[in-house]
Amino acid sequence: MIKQALISVSDKTGVLDFARALSALGVNILSTGGTAKLLQENGVPVTEVADYTGFPEMLDGRVKTLHPKVHGGILARRDFPEHVSKLQEHGIPEIDMVVVNLYPFQATVAKDDCSLEDAIENIDIGGPTMLRSAAKNHRDVVVICDPSDYGVVLAEMKGTGEVAGAVSYDTKFRLAKKVFSHTAQYDGAITNYLTSLGEDKQHATRAQYPQTINMAFEKVQDMRYGENPHQGAAFYRDIAPVDGALANYRQLQGKELSYNNIADADAAWECVKSLGGFQHPAGCVIVKHANPCGVAIGADALDAYTRALQTDPTSAFGGIIAFNVEVDGRAAEALAKLFVEVLIAPSFTAEARQIMAAKQNVRLLEISLGNGQNPYDVKRVGGGLLVQAPDAKNVGIGDLRVVSKKQPTQQQLQDLMFAWRVAKFVKSNAIVFCGNGMTLGVGAGQMSRIDSARIASIKAQNAGLSLAGSAVASDAFFPFRDGLDVVVDAGATCVIHPGGSMRDQEVIDAADERGVVMLYTGTRHFRH
Ligand code: 5GP
Repeated sequence: MIKQALISVSDKTGVLDFARALSALGVNILSTGGTAKLLQENGVPVTEVADYTGFPEMLDGRVKTLHPKVHGGILARRDFPEHVSKLQEHGIPEIDMVVVNLYPFQATVAKDDCSLEDAIENIDIGGPTMLRSAAKNHRDVVVICDPSDYGVVLAEMKGTGEVAGAVSYDTKFRLAKKVFSHTAQYDGAITNYLTSLGEDKQHATRAQYPQTINMAFEKVQDMRYGENPHQGAAFYRDIAPVDGALANYRQLQGKELSYNNIADADAAWECVKSLGGFQHPAGCVIVKHANPCGVAIGADALDAYTRALQTDPTSAFGGIIAFNVEVDGRAAEALAKLFVEVLIAPSFTAEARQIMAAKQNVRLLEISLGNGQNPYDVKRVGGGLLVQAPDAKNVGIGDLRVVSKKQPTQQQLQDLMFAWRVAKFVKSNAIVFCGNGMTLGVGAGQMSRIDSARIASIKAQNAGLSLAGSAVASDAFFPFRDGLDVVVDAGATCVIHPGGSMRDQEVIDAADERGVVMLYTGTRHFRH
């Protein structure tokens, strides 16, 4: 039975209704200054903690609830007679429910003009202490740190739970776990902030990469296995994934996602999201083993898919396919003919879903488009973590520099921009042949650029695609003229790359000698 609850919240969402309902169920409510005022003004009977303990809130609110009458009432074990008699001896009633959410530290330090002093005053002390006390004693105390749990708890108290009028142990345990995860994140945010401060702490200039990084993730699912069957695995997502991120997926049908599915789906989704702003509205990316094996833009989903598939139909078998537009019935009909692991799109029409329903193994993922960027890009190495900013740079036409004597045509410029956009998502060394808004040959992940160039042209031949008049992107500069010669021999008439090699002049001279267009981006897109 819950006889007494302590409510002390910064985020007052839903608290009034919740307190009113508790009160109606006969629960005695204790509360701190601001919360008590809100409840009183709205006619909910409440006792201020200061009146309850006989100690005023002091030190500008730094000490409000840190008192044995509060913590004794929370922490005492109801099944230990010595604990119960100690409470009686000191006149301490039990507190059976703690409802607390914390000072908004993260929101405070996210503000550009936040001073160290503001940040420190927003470190909640009493709140986490009460949450942790109650979570430790969760067998006897209900602890709520998230307003979205008010409803569940009320429903159980009203008698729709296991035991009429009581909150079930499972719920209490779940709420306690949530609390420790929440307070750990809270302390993590404080550490991240404090260890990002420079020498001049008063001005609170912050390093982008703090001395310690605490990142919080929550598990989405366990997986049957990882990259290989002997490796266990699970998928975790950010507590609040950025807009448009893969982790926001809604699975509409299909088998459980595997580790490799998710890794490849991410590669496909990131690539297809970058295909906006070209001459055709729809984009399609087919990924195998983390590399795009076909990318195209087209008039609609079907057109883009048909063209993307032409690049490398052999590799596309069992691939992951992503669209940046809605998948309609016509596209679904065509997709249903191929063995596909995962389909991703911002939406699927009812007709498309009906067609795919006949292929229940295909995993259908809906994700809203969005351009959010992870704050950190991380890579685990033996005993450590490499952290960098994500590769968010997208070169625009205005960034390009023509270095050859020959000037590009409008068509060549468009093809080069498309090839460059795709090359960013191909593992280094990347060489990508394109023409007319589709990939013609993709050379990925080779240790030498010339081999990537050779492979890209062989793959185009295998697919029966002509490279005559094609555009080529190279994710990093050509270290020698030999790579350029390979792509020009294959039929390319224009090339885009970052430039910046010691032998730049040799490579430019080769472009002029061969009569092709060469553009510099000034930006490199290594991807490993
Ligand atoms: P109120 O708006 O009710 O005055 O304050 C609610 C906030 O005070 C909650 O976020 C709660 O975590 C926090 N709080 C409760 N007790 C204490 C305490 O003893 N010290 C500090 N610093 N914060 C407290």
